[in-house]
Amino acid sequence: SSIPSVTLNNGAQIPQLGFGVWQVPDAEATAAVHAAIQAGYRSIDTAAIYENEAGTGQAIAQALAGGVAREDLYITTKLWNSGTRDWSGEQGRDAVLREFDASLAKLGLDYVDLYLIHWPRPMHGSYANVWKAFEQLAADGRAKSVGVSNFGQEQLTRLLDESSVVPVLNQVELHPYFPQDELRAFHAEHGIATEAWSPLGQGKDLLAEPALLQIAEKHGRTVAQVVLRWHLQSGVIAIPKSVTPSRIKENLDVAGFELDAADIAAIAGIATGQRIGPDPQGFDWN
Ligand code: NAD
Repeated sequence: SSIPSVTLNNGAQIPQLGFGVWQVPDAEATAAVHAAIQAGYRSIDTAAIYENEAGTGQAIAQALAGGVAREDLYITTKLWNSGTRDWSGEQGRDAVLREFDASLAKLGLDYVDLYLIHWPRPMHGSYANVWKAFEQLAADGRAKSVGVSNFGQEQLTRLLDESSVVPVLNQVELHPYFPQDELRAFHAEHGIATEAWSPLGQGKDLLAEPALLQIAEKHGRTVAQVVLRWHLQSGVIAIPKSVTPSRIKENLDVAGFELDAADIAAIAGIATGQRIGPDPQGFDWN
């Protein structure tokens, strides 16, 4: 396919564009993921908390039955906070492994390509213990790669200090309003890839931004395509979400044009430093 891939620090490759399914109800996930795979996506991003692993798994089963090879798919899911547990000690590690088994069963798979700690919840300090269970999943090959989401430099530094398994990537909020330059530089220094969640800014104000409309017009593209092109040219992995078949296709059709230095500078100019989602350092939902 024409989707470029990124080589991770363990040698595995991930498509640079994937399909996110947050807020897609389980009953609709099968059709959405099916449409995405038909359109050419091979990477799917779900999570236990999205409650659509089963629907996603059905679309994966359809694809496999239809002749798509398992090794050509790239399936990501995430460990939820399940905050009633503190994830400490051996009990915590066993609980993580049980959560993983439950995700795998819902997806109908015998391995995932990537398993992520969804949120660090630094106030509990147990993410480093959770990571020990993740190390085991990676060693067993049940998760081909392990990584994190919403981690800050402090939490990444702790994992780098305490473990020999470096997260392959950190999935964080990232879009032109919130480009995460400092964290990206830290990732690059440590061989951690950057994956953008809400890469389109959740489809709100960002897609009506005048500077982006101008660039889109110049290239004869949509604003969503310009923003996704910006992610790709930044070396970032992006997982846009849509349940609309035409947009699912549009978001994948980002080859064949190149943002120039003036475009990149104009996009840098609209950064506000404002998040859309919660600040992970204080986030403790469960
Ligand atoms: P997004 O930035 O991908 O925006 C999605 C929304 O943008 C759609 O619902 C639609 O309204 C609009 N849209 C999509 N394509 C469009 C197009 N071509 N033209 C016009 N509008 C379009 O937002 P998201 O869903 O928040 O993020 C993408 C994925 O990232 C999620 O589905 C999920 O997989 C992941 N995510 C992870 C975390 C985390 O904590 N790790 C948090 C949020 C999201």
